[in-house]
Parts: sequence; structure tokens; C-alpha cells
Amino acid sequence: MTRTDIHIHSSFSDGLATPRQIVEFAVSRQFDRICITDHVRIDTAWLDEFFEEIEALKEEFAGSIEVLAGVEAKVLDFSGRIDADLGRVSRADLVFAAFHRIPRAKGFMARRDIGRNKAEALENWFTSMKAVLSNPAVDIIAHPGNILKMSGVRIPTYLKEEIASLAGPSGKVFEHNLKYGVPDGGFLSLLVSEGVQILLGSDAHSIAELDELWSDWPANASSGHM
Ligand SMILES: [Zn+2]
Ligand SMILES: [Zn+2]
Repeated sequence: MTRTDIHIHSSFSDGLATPRQIVEFAVSRQFDRICITDHVRIDTAWLDEFFEEIEALKEEFAGSIEVLAGVEAKVLDFSGRIDADLGRVSRADLVFAAFHRIPRAKGFMARRDIGRNKAEALENWFTSMKAVLSNPAVDIIAHPGNILKMSGVRIPTYLKEEIASLAGPSGKVFEHNLKYGVPDGGFLSLLVSEGVQILLGSDAHSIAELDELWSDWPANASSGHM
């Protein structure tokens, strides 16, 4: 049983704490493993510096905690491409694909249209999700379904079943995201029943938020459904 948080943002992207502050806090709270995961784009300039810093922390804290480097990139289109330089992000321990927008045939749906055109939003999301599941550069799906949930769109059970049945053989990990409460219980159990590995991520952007998001989880709780 390990206490793991695979999704903590640092000051390399839009988090407030430095990687070192995050690692020191995580050690004080008995985490076994954390992944410092920052937002990237195709032209992110600080990637090498990020990987070097995480590498150094990994060595310095070996024995107390396992430290991983993650990158979170948005899904760009129906072909499941992500907004990252694949050659450079391959140094990451975990590459996250995130739906920060919903692709359409060209470009992205406007945020206000997601709630207005629920059927189209679901179809576009599902089409892109299927493609992401066969993108070999992607390790893990970040906060699955949160873009729909935020616009009040429920994912029908048959779509959850279909995604779970594709996710199993794909080998992709799904994040159980503490901040957004996704996937919901029904979706999680479908994923688990298809053999999908689930890892917990807080998506915290500060130490205070990290503390808050984990406040319901006792120090000896397992964080995965593996
Ligand atoms: Zn995200
Ligand atoms: Zn995030």
C-alpha cells in the first residue's frame, strides 16, 4: 500500500510551491511517492531544467520518498495528439493527456457551447478520448470527464462502458482526480473491472491546497486501486 499523489503542480508552471517545497511537505506527510506534474505546451522552454531539478530531488530524497517528473499536455484534436514536444517530454516518468478543451473537427468547442450542445460535446469528447487511448506517447488520462462535469454534462453509462473496455487493453492509467472528483464512482468501478490502473492525483497548485485535498485521507490510506 502506498500513499501516492501523481499530480502536483509546481512553480515551473502555474503552481505556487517549488518542487523542493512540495517534496519536503510530502515527506512530512508520509507520502511514499509523488509526481510533480506541470503544464507543458509544444514550445515550453523550461523542460530540461525541470527534469534536471526533479532528477536531483529524486536522488537527494531517495530512501524517504520516490519523486517522479510528470508533464500535463492538452488533447488537441480527434487524432488524439497532445500539445507537447514528444521528443523532449519522453524524459518524463508520466505523460498526462488532459481535456482542457473539447476538440471539434476544426479547433475547439467554445466553453459555453459544451453545456448548450451536450450531444455534440459528448461525441467530440468520446471521439478524441478513443484516439488518445491509442496515442503511444500518453501514459495517463488526467481528470477524466471533468471538462464535461464542469459544464453540467453527464457521461451516459454506455459511453463509460465503452471507454473502460478500450482503456483496459490500451494500458493507459486513469487518474482519480481529488480536486474535481472524477471519474465518479460508477465510472471508476467500470475502469477497475476492465483492469485499468487508477492512480490518485490531487491537482494541487499550492501546499495549502495539497494539504486540504488530502485532508480526508488518513496517512496510512492506500491511494491506488491497483
Ligand atoms: Zn488539467
Ligand atoms: Zn493539472
